[in-house]
Amino acid sequence: MAEYETVQHEVLIIGAGGAGLRAAIEASAAGVSVGIVCKSLLGKAHTVMAEGGIAAALANVDDRDNWRVHFADTMRGGQYLNNWRMAELHAKEAPQRVRELEAWGAVFDRTKDGRILQRNFGGHRYPRLAHVGDRTGLEMIRTLQDHGVHQGIDVHMEQTVLTLLKDGERVVGAFGYDRERGRFKVYRAKAIVLATGGIGRAYKITSNSWEYTGDGHALAYHAGAELIDMEFVQFHPTGMVWPPSVRGILVTEGVRGEGGILTNQEGRRFMFEDIPENYKTQTAADEEEGWRYCQGDKNARRPPELLTRDHVARSIVREIKAGRGSPHGGVFLDISWIKARVANGEDHIKRKLPSMYHQFKQLADIDITKGPMEVGPTTHYVMGGIRVDSDTQMSRLPGLFAAGECAAGINGANRLGGNSLSDLLVFGKRSGEFAAKFAKENVLGAIDDQQTAAAAREALEPFDRGANAQGEGVYRVQHDLQEMMQGLVGIVRQEEEMQRALQGIQQMRERAGKLGVMGNREFNPGWHTALDLKNLLTVSEAIALAGLERKESRGAHFREDYPDKDPAFATVNTVIWRGDDGAMQIRQESIPQMPDDLKRVIEEMK
Ligand SMILES: Cc1cc2nc3c(=O)[nH]c(=O)nc-3n(C[C@H](O)[C@H](O)[C@H](O)COP(=O)(O)OP(=O)(O)OC[C@H]3O[C@@H](n4cnc5c(N)ncnc54)[C@H](O)[C@@H]3O)c2cc1C
Repeated sequence: MAEYETVQHEVLIIGAGGAGLRAAIEASAAGVSVGIVCKSLLGKAHTVMAEGGIAAALANVDDRDNWRVHFADTMRGGQYLNNWRMAELHAKEAPQRVRELEAWGAVFDRTKDGRILQRNFGGHRYPRLAHVGDRTGLEMIRTLQDHGVHQGIDVHMEQTVLTLLKDGERVVGAFGYDRERGRFKVYRAKAIVLATGGIGRAYKITSNSWEYTGDGHALAYHAGAELIDMEFVQFHPTGMVWPPSVRGILVTEGVRGEGGILTNQEGRRFMFEDIPENYKTQTAADEEEGWRYCQGDKNARRPPELLTRDHVARSIVREIKAGRGSPHGGVFLDISWIKARVANGEDHIKRKLPSMYHQFKQLADIDITKGPMEVGPTTHYVMGGIRVDSDTQMSRLPGLFAAGECAAGINGANRLGGNSLSDLLVFGKRSGEFAAKFAKENVLGAIDDQQTAAAAREALEPFDRGANAQGEGVYRVQHDLQEMMQGLVGIVRQEEEMQRALQGIQQMRERAGKLGVMGNREFNPGWHTALDLKNLLTVSEAIALAGLERKESRGAHFREDYPDKDPAFATVNTVIWRGDDGAMQIRQESIPQMPDDLKRVIEEMK
């Protein structure tokens, strides 16, 4: 039998980003013991990288804003595939969650009269993003971490959960290992919240860090939960393209929110060409109006650079494919032009976008106050994820909850920028609250030794094969998968390519099954990668399968062979689960009718 240490909590949170920390705070406040596990050091979760801001209808900059407008914007952005109840709760509760964060010590940028400043972002009708320069995630994590630690949460750092443990249908624990020493651990709990973030590392070009290997998605799927809308992967229009070592690193939408413009090799603002009729011609007056909008003029029209992310990303791809791109395969994004419009222009840009200034200066030797950046699309966020109850965040498995990027529903076919950080706060809180409630109402379940032994055996297989492995390194398979997903299941998709991707995934699964790793369990990154690879294969298969199922183009899912929206898919979610034979299954499911009061909100906002 495998040797392992056991730790016990009433609520276990897997993931210490914004969602996990907010869940931990809430559960702890409800009086249950809470443990939180994370792959890296506390505070280094993905949330810390968030730049632009948190969307919440505080109405500090434009008093016409309210939850109804935010709800309608979110639904429109998601092409009405969103879970409308989640979108409603999110829009209603986000302002309260942001004010609470401020009360816990977050220092936001301020309006002249001392309220939380809000900035424009694509798809949001009014300036809505509460922010701290372009380091909002850092402030959010710092605040939550401080608050959480003082509440007495136990933190298990640098540990990876590999499997969920079940007692019948109920999830009663998790099996994992500590990354430094490679020792196994069983986490026993009455309720578990998955808050593991996204899947970006399934692709070659991504803004996501090494931790984003779809672990929560895969853990839930293998335990028997459902995944929905996995075809919807958001490709952010602006990532760095040069030098190659930094390709994919995010260039925040905040640059465009502050007045940044996109141009092609010919110096044209190509976004004017691909948008509604009233924008068709680009005149000096249009440009002027866009700039006034970024300066907070309530009556000016939004510049076309602030259309939704899918739209902007596809326009950029079109320019690059047509040979009108920048020297290194992107397009130009210029914020330096605003120097002509604001006093102390260079300082203004550095103050508004400090991280962007340093990022380009240090990584690409480019001064963004003096000239344009080169940018191109990068895999950024997954709208699809674990299916949860809208109010409680519990999956279909008793005792298993999910929140944040690994859960799905709120964003539908596309997420608006800023709606993730608010999602983490709103649904992180809810998941913590209901996980604590579940923990109070249930006793600990039984841990089955056979399950832990099987999990340990599986984890050690790469070592068992070590000496006999067929010469292929784990990084080669990971690289091939990322390259294949980028090429065949990327921004523009089609049937034959996604079919090939599915076959490729099966072949890679076989290759992964033969991989061996050398060395021992201490500090062994090759082993960690081999273990993560299984999750990447699971989420890649789910994305390709769902992409094939949705034979239309909608939101972030664009199919060359079905370039239009199809009314037959307008009210349908794709649902994925693991069949009894272990094969991945998919079905379409109709979205429940929206209640009349919410329908009226959407009608009014049109
Ligand atoms: C560069 C960048 C900028 C962004 N800017 C914005 C923005 O301005 N506004 C906005 O709304 N959104 C933004 N986003 C998106 C947003 O940051 C993320 O969607 C969000 O932070 C996800 O938070 P989370 O709590 O779900 O996951 P994370 O913050 O990624 O946390 C995941 C946690 O799970 C842990 N974990 C994962 N797998 C395991 C495992 N197997 N075992 C144990 N622990 C595990 C990780 O170690 C980590 O602690 C940005 C994203 C990026 C990449």
